[in-house]
Amino acid sequence: MGRSAEGEGMSKHCTHWINGKPWTGEAATRGDIYDPATGRVSGTVDFGGAAEVGAAVAAAVAALPGWRDTSLVKRAGVMFAFRELARKHAGELASLITSEHGKVLSDAAGEVARGLEVVDFACGIPHLLKGGFSENVSSGVDAYSIRQPVGVVAGITPFNFPAMVPMWMFPIALACGNAFVLKPSEKDPSASVLLAELLAEAGLPDGAFSVVHGAKEAVDALLTHPDVRAVSFVGSTPVARYVSQTATEHGKRVQALGGAKNHMVVLPDADLDLAADAAVNAGFGSAGERCMAISVVVAVDPIGDELVGKIAERIRGLRVGPGSDEGAEMGPLVTREHRDKVAGYLDSGVADGATLAVDGRDHPVSGDPGDGFWLGPTVLDHVRPGMRCYTDEIFGPVLSVVRAGSYAEALEVINGSPYGNGTAIFTNDGGAARRFTHEVEVGMVGVNVPIPVPMAFYSFGGWKSSLFGDTHVHGTEGVHFYTRGKAVTSRWLDPSHGGVNLGFPVNA
Ligand code: NAD
Repeated sequence: MGRSAEGEGMSKHCTHWINGKPWTGEAATRGDIYDPATGRVSGTVDFGGAAEVGAAVAAAVAALPGWRDTSLVKRAGVMFAFRELARKHAGELASLITSEHGKVLSDAAGEVARGLEVVDFACGIPHLLKGGFSENVSSGVDAYSIRQPVGVVAGITPFNFPAMVPMWMFPIALACGNAFVLKPSEKDPSASVLLAELLAEAGLPDGAFSVVHGAKEAVDALLTHPDVRAVSFVGSTPVARYVSQTATEHGKRVQALGGAKNHMVVLPDADLDLAADAAVNAGFGSAGERCMAISVVVAVDPIGDELVGKIAERIRGLRVGPGSDEGAEMGPLVTREHRDKVAGYLDSGVADGATLAVDGRDHPVSGDPGDGFWLGPTVLDHVRPGMRCYTDEIFGPVLSVVRAGSYAEALEVINGSPYGNGTAIFTNDGGAARRFTHEVEVGMVGVNVPIPVPMAFYSFGGWKSSLFGDTHVHGTEGVHFYTRGKAVTSRWLDPSHGGVNLGFPVNA
């Protein structure tokens, strides 16, 4: 096992998974793993560097020819087996996520379910990799297109979806015939090792999937390794930009998804109860630590006061508590430092002229709050673009409300943001909704849907500073990212030889 817990109350130890088994070396550096609900250290994780990345990539290089040449049907068979195993272990995966990330169990289970949808999609790889064929493009000449794996690929993932985001990547990459090295977040590393164990049990050859834990050193080793051909990254914008630049400089294909500031426009004709429910669900689910969380509500005059009142009323009834508590709706934040940083925006917002409509520092925590990383749901009203609480990605349970005089002003606010991940409009006017989806400069748009995360058979990705690279993840764009196209022109001899001709081949 790459994760070991020596018994109830004992500290667990999480290590790398390389070449189909747990790493047995002695780590030079380790990080602490916390239980965010208690604030206590629950274990340690080994940090890798160039040596561990080198071992994982070497194992991937060795596994690649066999896996790439495994028939499509057999590769799909491994995905089907993995799908069954992951479903069987979904509860265990969710518990691991809750214990290290802090999100409530139902939310962790939802994350696993959404990740599994990508596995479902990858099971259809024989169909997805079908190429095109044209007979007789010239006399006696046929042409066809095929897609082949790119080779060894790497995934670098954030803390906020320790199972789902890796599952956006590796099922499709593996099904396409690549070997995959994952560098998960060091804050909640255990779920990735359970996924590796399940892939091995499903029949994936040793070396085709490895996990190297760690931080910048491990990431840099992947970005610069000559045998890594492509890199998928999901995380904050500054690191996404760095990953994109460094991987590109080293000749790799790269897709780097960054941070977000997702706006939800509420037009005056909207059903305000529906909009308030949506704002609370999308603003405070997973304590706002979702890249598709709504962080800004743009209330178009004159409904601002009424909407804020309805949001505040709903927040009062929210149960904040440990993720393992079945009744809890919102858990703690991931680390103490992050909680303190998020809480800092309450003061900076007020200092910049916003008003604190709901102060999350006063929200009760159910059970024993211990020294957990708590911050309740907060609403900052009368926020204006330019304030620090508006320009920064807060990534916590803080909903900002911007007042806009008109639809046009609301659109200008959104299109003025450097981010373009997700957005939503709440209205009963189909024409306004249609105009919004056409005009807004954002990659994923919801109409009366606050978190418009595309299904696995569509592709996920934002615009502007929310994505560096050309290709979104999963769906057909995912298949394209993990494969290279090849066009073949073929002629089989027939009795009508054309003789020698040094001219450029044209379709005569
Ligand atoms: P992060 O950028 O701090 O870390 C992401 C990954 O990069 C981790 O594996 C981490 O170890 C590594 N890393 C961190 N600093 C690095 C550095 N200086 N050099 C090289 N590697 C480094 O992000 P996070 O805090 O783990 O996750 C939250 C962020 O991820 C938010 O900004 C959120 O919006 C974003 N996110 C975006 C999406 C999306 O689809 N666009 C999805 C989920 C999360």
